Amino acid sequence: MKLELQMLGGAEEIGANSCYLNIGGHGVVIDAGLHPRRRDKFALPDYDLLSEKRVDTFLLTHAHTDHVGGLPYFMKRQPHARMITTRPTRELIEVMLRNTIKLLTLDSTEGLPENPLEFYDYKLLNKFGTLFEGFLYEEEIVLSEDQYYNGNHAQHGVTMSFHDAAHIIGSAAARFSVNGATILHSGDVQFTKQSLLPGASLPQEPLDCLILECTNGADENPVPYAEEKQRLADFINRITNQNGSVLLPTFALGKTQEVLKVVSNLMNSGKIPRLPIYTGGMSKRIGKIYDRYAHSVPRVEPGFALSGIPQVSVIYEKMLTEKFFHEPGIVIISSGMLNVGSPSYSLAQRWMEMEHFGIGIMGYQDPSTPGYHLLQSTKGEEFIMAEKVTTRVCDVERFRFSAHASRANLLEYVDAVKPKHLFLVHGDATAAESVAAAVKSSLPETKVCIPRLGVSYEIDL
Ligand SMILES: [Zn+2]
Ligand SMILES: [Zn+2]
Repeated sequence: MKLELQMLGGAEEIGANSCYLNIGGHGVVIDAGLHPRRRDKFALPDYDLLSEKRVDTFLLTHAHTDHVGGLPYFMKRQPHARMITTRPTRELIEVMLRNTIKLLTLDSTEGLPENPLEFYDYKLLNKFGTLFEGFLYEEEIVLSEDQYYNGNHAQHGVTMSFHDAAHIIGSAAARFSVNGATILHSGDVQFTKQSLLPGASLPQEPLDCLILECTNGADENPVPYAEEKQRLADFINRITNQNGSVLLPTFALGKTQEVLKVVSNLMNSGKIPRLPIYTGGMSKRIGKIYDRYAHSVPRVEPGFALSGIPQVSVIYEKMLTEKFFHEPGIVIISSGMLNVGSPSYSLAQRWMEMEHFGIGIMGYQDPSTPGYHLLQSTKGEEFIMAEKVTTRVCDVERFRFSAHASRANLLEYVDAVKPKHLFLVHGDATAAESVAAAVKSSLPETKVCIPRLGVSYEIDL
């Protein structure tokens, strides 16, 4: 029996992630992302590649924009696919697509394959979630039954299940089973415990095929989480002791909730003083969805609700006159890369003029973003940020609280499930090649492939 794999986006990079699988005759599209920065023909997955293919099911691994931002485009091109995801992800789709429309309205979209705003419509947003069936982790889902013609077996039945990938709330790996063969797509995955989520629980059985994300594949020496927390505590103490406030720009989905819990834990353990925490924007709505699943989705502290952490709401229109400009406070607000027009970008402009203030940049910054330019800048020296010459006198420090598996954890997992075939996706070429080289030497029997965009790969299961 054959398995076909074709990357429709997000090959050799973290881009408009989307992957086509044909599993014994059943066509599955996994994710439909919007590229984090490109607004040309690579901004959205190449769905022209599907024109000759059978598409039965669309499956969403989680609700980050690089996985869901292309969903309206997919639905325009493939309106008949069955749509499946996990229950929390189904609730997040509308919030995330609302933000995607905002992003596309701000950016120039002339280079996109078709005018995207035609099918990104606020009026349709509440419908997207309802078109999906939402499942629990490890629930068996029948994608297709065995089919017989004249007593002859024509097509094998395919079943699947979602498994907790612990990357953000609702994130899932997808396990497919067909005719005794097992295929796993990891989605974005984190095996190590974060502050809110306890670490992935992926199948440990031998796999015929593993499609694995490798975001951190080249990072040989990641800083331990506990050390990063201590560095953050030291930074907050230093800034607030000099009467300044701390700005922590974060992605609205996942990172905001995680950093909020980290800061709250630091306060509860007495490592930093009890200071007002300011949050706002779409992360409020996302926090509510986290809380709704406080008991039904695995947590480090089962039942823990983010709403139990005292927070002051920041209103966008009034934020430049907020108290944190006069009294020490911690502001946790999107966007994570200080995108122009976002609350964190507007606040950072003011922060940069305040000598006793500090900005903590959280995690990866794309080289084209203001967050990256700020991180590269030197205190008191001119630099270019969002095409404007500027200077900053505030402190800037970088922290890594990655929601992606470490290189060591990726290799441990590959070693545990010993896949016959391994496809490395969702990582740049350096990351993918680094993991590929390690697997080739530890598991010489495993066939390793870094799939290229648009190329169809066929393997025998
Ligand atoms: Zn993600
Ligand atoms: Zn991703």
